[in-house]
Amino acid sequence: MVRYSVLFMSRLLALVSILLLALPALAWDATGHSIIAVIAYDRLTGKTRARVDQLIREHPDYETILTRGAPDAPEARARYAFMTAAVWPDMIKGDRRFWDDTRQNAVPTALLPGFPDMRRHTNWHYYDTPYAPDGAPIQMQPPPSALSELPRLIRELNRASELQKVYDLPWFEHIEGDVHQPLHSIGRFLRSAEGSDQGGNRVFVMPGQTLHAFWDSACGRENSLAYITKFAAEAVAENPAPRRMEKNPRKWIEESAKIAIAQVYTFGNETGSREQPLRLPQSYVENARRVAKARVALAGYRLAAMLNDRLK
Ligand SMILES: [Zn+2]
Repeated sequence: MVRYSVLFMSRLLALVSILLLALPALAWDATGHSIIAVIAYDRLTGKTRARVDQLIREHPDYETILTRGAPDAPEARARYAFMTAAVWPDMIKGDRRFWDDTRQNAVPTALLPGFPDMRRHTNWHYYDTPYAPDGAPIQMQPPPSALSELPRLIRELNRASELQKVYDLPWFEHIEGDVHQPLHSIGRFLRSAEGSDQGGNRVFVMPGQTLHAFWDSACGRENSLAYITKFAAEAVAENPAPRRMEKNPRKWIEESAKIAIAQVYTFGNETGSREQPLRLPQSYVENARRVAKARVALAGYRLAAMLNDRLK
């Protein structure tokens, strides 16, 4: 057995925690995206659901990724694949078939059958609306972003080639969900810091996580179908569908940014640090859970409404 000194181990642990903090934002965790997807799926019309199922079945990763661990019964299998498709754009962040087009000098990977391109498109997951509570200078986020891609994806759902639609559907499911996480629609600029906080990725809270990661996991981290089904049912029961369904993605982002200002940055103009993370009071944690639950319910309703509109 190899023995390591206490000093070595503590350095290793420090390194691991820095690496974990440096990981790119995953947006709502797989749990959040799955909850949104099942809320939406259960609200699709028969015709739209059949069309959605067909598109998902044609996806190049249907057999390998989308139905991994899926139930055998055809209807449950289709629902599961739609749910997993909502997480797919996060899964490819660590998939070597794809390349990170946001990195300088990145080397493109080979184009595989069924994909229009092999980029990871990590900047499609958010649009950081500038927010400057103490009057710090701001920068606008250039395209491509959630703000430029959501309208395109919505247009393409009933206009593009079949191959493009197959590719677009998981992306639409995912980014529509992402922008309902308040910290996917805002970047806070403070005089005390250089650049934006990147949706709370540069704010540190207890215990050893970023503010962004805290909000991503506000619906829990459990991925079992039982947990997701139960959480979805509760979210829907506590947050009934609005009478008027907003269908403009720009409005979704504006609404999310407002919620971030009113409900997320309530602890003031502080950022904490890795060494001294902010301590969020229990009342903040409870409010975050309530807000997150309402956001995933609304994202689910809107996703269903858009698909029912566009895929029939
Ligand atoms: Zn994402």
